[in-house]
Amino acid sequence: MIKDIPIIAEQAQQPRRTNPLAHVFDELMNFARSRSLFMLHYCTGCGAIELPPAMTSRFDMERLGIQPMVTPRQADILLVTGYVSIKTLKRIILTYEQMGSPKHVIGICSCTVNGGMYWQSYATAKKLDEYLPVDLYIAGCMPRPEAVISGLQKLIDNIKHGKSDNWKDYYQRYDHYLGNQQHLFGNNWQTPTDVIGEAREYGLFGPQTLGQHTELLESVQKPLQPLEMKL
Ligand code: SF4
Repeated sequence: MIKDIPIIAEQAQQPRRTNPLAHVFDELMNFARSRSLFMLHYCTGCGAIELPPAMTSRFDMERLGIQPMVTPRQADILLVTGYVSIKTLKRIILTYEQMGSPKHVIGICSCTVNGGMYWQSYATAKKLDEYLPVDLYIAGCMPRPEAVISGLQKLIDNIKHGKSDNWKDYYQRYDHYLGNQQHLFGNNWQTPTDVIGEAREYGLFGPQTLGQHTELLESVQKPLQPLEMKL
C-alpha cells in the first residue's frame, strides 16, 4: 500500500565545482538570466486578481525584465496564484514538468504556504512545496502588487547570485516529491515527462532520485495514449 512507503525528506547535497573559470561563466549567465525572465502565471485562486496591476503601467513588472508567457516550454517562472485544489495540482505538476530547466516556482498567497483559509478543506492541497520545489512564497490574503513586485525582485536577486537552484532538488529528490504526489493522487499517478531521464541528462541523478515510489511508478506506468477528442 502507498501509505506504508516512507517519504524521505532529507535535503540532497549539492556537488562542489572546482574549476575557478566555471564560476566566471556562471556569474555572467546568472546575471543574463536574472534580467530576462518569462513568467507563466497559473491563476488558480483569488490572488490572481493582483497580477493585472502588477503587470500594467502603475507597477510595470516588465521594467524588471519579466514578461508574461503563455506556454510552459518557454517559461522560466511558474507563478501559482492562490489555493490549489487536488485536481488543479495535477495540471500544475504537468505544466511544471514541461518547463525547461532552470525553472523557478513562486507561490503567491497564504493558501499556497499552508492552505490558508482552506486549511481544513478535503479538496485542497495545503503545502505547495511538498509537491514541487518552491523558490519563493509571497504570503498574504491576498498580497498587494507591491508585495508581488518585491517578491519578484527577491527572485531576480537570488538568480543573479546563484541562490535559486531549487529546480535541481526535483531531480535529486524525485522519489520524495513523487511520493507526496502518489499519496494525494493514488498509486496510478503518472505524467508524460521522463523525470528520471532528465535527471541523468542534467547530471543531477542522485541517491534519492530513485526509491520505493519510483519503483511503484515503474510497476504501474503505461504508455500514454493520445487523448480522444469528443465534441
Ligand atoms: S490567500 Fe486569500 S486571496 Fe489568496 S487564494 Fe487564499 S483565500 Fe484567496
